[in-house]
Amino acid sequence: MNSYNGIMVYVEFGENGLLPITRQLLGCGRKIADELGEPLSAVIVGSKGIEEGSDAAQLGADTVYIVEHELLRQYRTETYVAALEQLVRQQRPTALLMGQTYVGRDLAPSLAFRLETIAVLDCIALEIDHASRVLLLTKPVCGGNAVATFTSMYYPQIITIRDKAMLPMEPSFGKNAHVVHFAVSLEPRSFKTRLIKKVKEEGEGLRLEEAAVIISGGRGIGGAEGFRQLHETAAILHAAVGGSRPACDNRGVAPNRQIGITGKIVSPDLYIAVGISGSIQQMSGCGQAKRIVAINKDPDAPIFKYADFGVVGDWKKVFPSFSAKLKELVS
Ligand SMILES: Cc1cc2nc3c(=O)[nH]c(=O)nc-3n(C[C@H](O)[C@H](O)[C@H](O)COP(=O)(O)OP(=O)(O)OC[C@H]3O[C@@H](n4cnc5c(N)ncnc54)[C@H](O)[C@@H]3O)c2cc1C
Repeated sequence: MNSYNGIMVYVEFGENGLLPITRQLLGCGRKIADELGEPLSAVIVGSKGIEEGSDAAQLGADTVYIVEHELLRQYRTETYVAALEQLVRQQRPTALLMGQTYVGRDLAPSLAFRLETIAVLDCIALEIDHASRVLLLTKPVCGGNAVATFTSMYYPQIITIRDKAMLPMEPSFGKNAHVVHFAVSLEPRSFKTRLIKKVKEEGEGLRLEEAAVIISGGRGIGGAEGFRQLHETAAILHAAVGGSRPACDNRGVAPNRQIGITGKIVSPDLYIAVGISGSIQQMSGCGQAKRIVAINKDPDAPIFKYADFGVVGDWKKVFPSFSAKLKELVS
């Protein structure tokens, strides 16, 4: 029996308010907490005023910790890890859930190191083994070709969860959480990094992480000229455009549009892969899509093993009629 108690969720905000992954973490956290008979808490880290507009009390957690400090005004790994370390050491949750976001991926390992515990990143399922009350952490392994379930005897368990792997929790209006302002002690001189400036990520069109439909091009598309056609079709479908690593290297799409193990991990409802062979490194980033459609001239291309629907043919011939039919269907 361990002396840790409760599931804690790290809350993240984007430009449009609460990130969808936070609602998913709260939904998963609530289920696990209820099964364990333990409380669910949420933590919001930032500077003065974060409570305003965050509907902190209505996130659906039992307790919401607000961690405010001047040094937490801008995200900085060192200061956020220090603040979370203090809260987690005091509250001793069984698990801290974070999104598999830039921030979650950045914070989780550093925090786990500080707490001398484990971090399990990129989980797609979280369950309880009812006999032992141990958390079962499921995540893709071997470049996404298999999934494995892990357990750990180290606490607290720091876990990141992939976007769209869990159902979101609806805001529980009417049920007010207990809001606690947690005072942290941060000494400016102990932090070695300084934020000099923030540069907004440039990108054409819809963000890959938010798109329900992604059209992704590979080396087979060639360069920017070929990608123009993908962009036109994407506009019809309200889709985002992404690419494989060679497509980014060939400047067909921006580097921040690369999908795969060293790019973005996406899980759209529909992934249309055009001129992509289907390497392990590419499929690690898109294998969780609900439906995959592939267009490739090579009938033996590995992408067809993953595709729900496939067309064998030259994309320059296939894609225009595919696009025209889509236009007809949505008009
Ligand atoms: C450490 C490491 C990390 C990596 N990370 C990533 C990553 O994050 N993302 C990623 O994508 N890759 C990554 N790679 C590269 C990866 O191994 C593959 O080389 C890459 O995914 C292949 O991209 P591709 O499918 O676009 O190109 P190719 O493998 O060259 O495939 C091109 C495909 O286009 C088809 N084609 C060609 N012409 C046409 C046509 N006219 N019509 C229809 N089909 C056509 C071909 O039949 C072929 O199947 C990584 C590699 C390493 C070693």
